[in-house]
Amino acid sequence: MTSESEQPTNPDLLRIVALGGLGEIGMNMMAVEAEGKILLIDCGLMFPEAHMLGIDLVLPDISSLGERSADICALVLTHGHEDHIGALPYLYQQLGSPPIFASRFTLGLLKKKLAEFDLNLNKQFHQLEARTAVSVGPFTVEPFRVAHSVPDGFGLAIRTPAGLIIHSGDFKLDTTPLDGERTDLARLGQFGDEGVLLLMADSTNVESCGYSGSERQVGPRFVELMKQSQGMVFVATFSSNIHRIQQAVDAARASGRKIILHGRP
Ligand SMILES: [Zn+2]
Repeated sequence: MTSESEQPTNPDLLRIVALGGLGEIGMNMMAVEAEGKILLIDCGLMFPEAHMLGIDLVLPDISSLGERSADICALVLTHGHEDHIGALPYLYQQLGSPPIFASRFTLGLLKKKLAEFDLNLNKQFHQLEARTAVSVGPFTVEPFRVAHSVPDGFGLAIRTPAGLIIHSGDFKLDTTPLDGERTDLARLGQFGDEGVLLLMADSTNVESCGYSGSERQVGPRFVELMKQSQGMVFVATFSSNIHRIQQAVDAARASGRKIILHGRP
């Protein structure tokens, strides 16, 4: 980030700084700067690795934002995973308490998280809807639907004075997701026709060849395994993977099992 005296005024100049999340899993946070204003995307944490003894959580390093908090016009959250929203309660005030834009489900998760910190930011919440653009500073942000392992995820089409940039968020090309909310390839195609200055796409296991199966294939396999198994069956998943939990519950019922949910409330 530039110091105040060096703020770029050239409309063709766009500055993008990854504050975390590049080449690592976790701490996703990106700053996009145009005309002296900064748009932040995500504010995630990283869970400590084995060598980080005594460390509970790892937060993005926002020191490069320096004294620029007054220039931050919005924080947009792509989806509700901890590695995209988990650092928010710790860093929000240092960021100058900007308005927060996210989907309904993401805001719901955030609200619950903030209650643990005794923080009520409801007045700062702005709900995003797919294909409905909002303007913040020199940016216009249009969320588009992406399928992912947490409901209500968005990718972002960001119109800047320099051109259109696409931030994919976390996405899966699942043609039969359980909630029917597929990644909006049609809209992405339209952005392509319009002309994209920069595509930022993230993919875990991008080095592996091949395709992942649809989430819809998981349920029948659960039923098969639970019917074959003697005694208790344990299923582990992220607590925000609502579709996976529903499929596990449905399979348990189909195989005549009692269900106990255990985890962080
Ligand atoms: Zn995610």
